[in-house]
Amino acid sequence: MDVPVGVGAAIAFLFGASVGSFATTAAYRMPRDISIITPRSMCESCERQIPWWANIPIFAFIGLRGRCIMCGAPIRFRHFLTEAALAVTALYLYLTFPLPDAIARFVLCASLFTVAWIDYDWRLIPNLVTFPGTLIGFAAAALVMPEVGWKSSLIGIAAGAGVLFLTGLLYQLLRGREGVGLGDVFLLGMVGGFLGWQGVLFTLFFGSLLGGVGGIAYALASSPQPAPLGDPASDPAEADVSLMQTTVPFGPFLALAAGIYALFQPQLTRWYLGG
Ligand SMILES: [Zn+2]
Repeated sequence: MDVPVGVGAAIAFLFGASVGSFATTAAYRMPRDISIITPRSMCESCERQIPWWANIPIFAFIGLRGRCIMCGAPIRFRHFLTEAALAVTALYLYLTFPLPDAIARFVLCASLFTVAWIDYDWRLIPNLVTFPGTLIGFAAAALVMPEVGWKSSLIGIAAGAGVLFLTGLLYQLLRGREGVGLGDVFLLGMVGGFLGWQGVLFTLFFGSLLGGVGGIAYALASSPQPAPLGDPASDPAEADVSLMQTTVPFGPFLALAAGIYALFQPQLTRWYLGG
């Protein structure tokens, strides 16, 4: 199939934007048990159906200045962010990888966005995404992602889910509270399925780094007032515990790290091998 590269790139961009719109909607509906197919797109404020022309990804948000066409309520910026990010992702993947490989990586990125928003809002990661995602990832790695391959994918699933599960178990034994949710475990399993064990290692280390920085920033931003005297929270040991707690969801950081690896695997591998 000979499509001029400009036409293909435009299609990829628009397709990515549409999937971005779908991913944001799915992230809103899934935890609320609303079907992700019907009803068609609704305003999250007035719950009326949005006319198709006011629902065109990216452009409608800009044209309507981020407000609902019917009730004027602000539309959350995450709609625009996800649409734009997945549009650019699809365009980049289309220009960088063979088409089947690019599609597999795009499926992962769209799933990561959905999971990240749900975890951000609800502190949970639905198995409804990660279980099928793991299987699709394994099939994709075996069939259309030669840089990953089935062996690395299989090890990645086991290592991803296994290592994080053991970390969580250890944390729970030491601290007496849950530090790693099972959702994170299955998320890393899905990442392993798509990106192999090298992808899991990168995601775990880079995701933890991002999560650590994010967690410290969050802790600093959210506790400016000094604790009153005699407050148990002023005990340094207690303060340490509160910093280690999952006040910040881990999933979005893992998702961001995995997305970076999905896009830049060739560069990262070359850089790591020093070539
Ligand atoms: Zn509205």
